[in-house]
Amino acid sequence: MATAEGSPYELYIGGQDVPGTRGARSELLDPATNRPFAQVAVGSKDDARAAMEVADRAFRESGWAADDGARRGKALVRLATLLETRLEAFARLETQNMGKPLRESRGDIQYVVRTLEYFAGLADKVEGTTIPVPGSRLDYTLREPLGVTVHIAPWNYPLLLAVRSVAPALAAGNAVVLKPASLTPATAVAFARLAHEAGVPDGILNVVPGSGGEVGEALIADPRCRSVTFTGSGAVGRRIAELAAARLRPATLELGGKGPVVVFPDADLDRAAKGIGYGIFQNAGQMCWAASRLIVHESVRGPLLDRVRAIAEGLRLGPGTADGVEMGPLVSPEQVERVLGFVDEARNDGARVVTGGLRATEPTLAAGNFVRPTVLAEVPSTSRALREEIFGPVLAVLPFSDPEEALGLANDSEYGLLGTVWTRDLVTAHSFARRLECGMVVVNEAPLTFPQSPFAGVKASGVGAEQGQAAIRAYTREKNVLLQLGAGRRKG
Ligand code: NAP
Ligand code: MG
Repeated sequence: MATAEGSPYELYIGGQDVPGTRGARSELLDPATNRPFAQVAVGSKDDARAAMEVADRAFRESGWAADDGARRGKALVRLATLLETRLEAFARLETQNMGKPLRESRGDIQYVVRTLEYFAGLADKVEGTTIPVPGSRLDYTLREPLGVTVHIAPWNYPLLLAVRSVAPALAAGNAVVLKPASLTPATAVAFARLAHEAGVPDGILNVVPGSGGEVGEALIADPRCRSVTFTGSGAVGRRIAELAAARLRPATLELGGKGPVVVFPDADLDRAAKGIGYGIFQNAGQMCWAASRLIVHESVRGPLLDRVRAIAEGLRLGPGTADGVEMGPLVSPEQVERVLGFVDEARNDGARVVTGGLRATEPTLAAGNFVRPTVLAEVPSTSRALREEIFGPVLAVLPFSDPEEALGLANDSEYGLLGTVWTRDLVTAHSFARRLECGMVVVNEAPLTFPQSPFAGVKASGVGAEQGQAAIRAYTREKNVLLQLGAGRRKG
């Protein structure tokens, strides 16, 4: 193995590459061509158990948890620095495995670097409190790491969404077992190798590729599992919540969205159109926080739609590795079927396809999973395309005539992740920020987040928050200590 990013990708347990107990391998496909580019070991239940055992031992014996937090912080900074020097290689690997344009992969890896730096800075600030209590007593709290934390990641931002929860767990002193998505495990394995190089003790960061049903469930069922963090579909999120509840383990769930974008007549339409295009076509729309429902005032509907349509039709599709490409393929042929299935259903329900709605059939794209940027209008409110997460480059447009109607449309969703408002009016902006049933709101911006800000959904979009200082609290528990100081002392 010449570099951290090199194939084949084995399991990474106890500070080394290990083949799975079954010796099974699967091929990773490049979504731009559907041709294999590398192999990955497929883990089993036994591998999951082995990883939990190794992590548990490392947690108790490696000194990682007991260490001065500053030492953990330094190791995470070294990891961030190493990753930054390999940014291009990691970005290429992510693009090859997942399909997104290189420019986006570079942004993802940079975000991972920044996340590591942010949580590295918090590693020596995990503090308890002193609490005044009656009598001659001392009451204080300790913040202790949980032990072994389990992380189950999706394929849409493979390394970014994995490290978003792994970084605070490590900073707080836990030992981690990560299961990446079966479609996109490459960068997670490469990252674990890099952590080893950065001096993270053996067994503190383990990666077990394998199926969710087998490896994922075995990790959660393991008695050594102390918490679960999951990002992915609502259906699997519910299953994970049940498994965790049966074992009285906390679960952080980051599930889907159906993000509303409300555009008022006073908005800067050029900027809004760009933000809207970014919010639904970036990552080919495969985003939990995709801004997929455009709720626009009827007085500006025509000019805004013209602009959004021009953006959709002007996007350069192609393999993520090619220069100047603005939208890559979807992750898999199944995802193409799923997305186009929603579009066909919307059409049958009476929706109008403003643009797109089909595969890209140019000779250079036909073998890959390319779907044209799509805009739907007049989608009936009961259509699944308006109610469910499509997870593809498909925008639905809904007109409104007064603000209360806009608010009603925006909140008429099972989901509540990110809401967007475009207006120059401060009162409208703040009042919508308060009344939108979402965990996050952006005003006059495309979807945007930072490692220091909470990332959270309400309703069916999730349970618990990621990022920010609260993440450190989520990966620690509070212990109360009460001391009697006056015992044995006599009044003189
Ligand atoms: P998924 O099934 O929810 O997969 C997410 C992760 O959970 C993967 O690592 C998966 O492993 C694992 N998993 C699956 N079943 C599990 C189980 N029973 N126990 C433990 N872990 C399990 O998502 P998907 O099937 O890849 O995508 C389907 C749809 O989910 C998408 O079209 C999209 O709507 C939504 N999705 C949302 C997000 C988001 O960020 N909110 C991300 C991805 C997908 P395997 O890879 O081995 O199945
Ligand atoms: Mg699935």
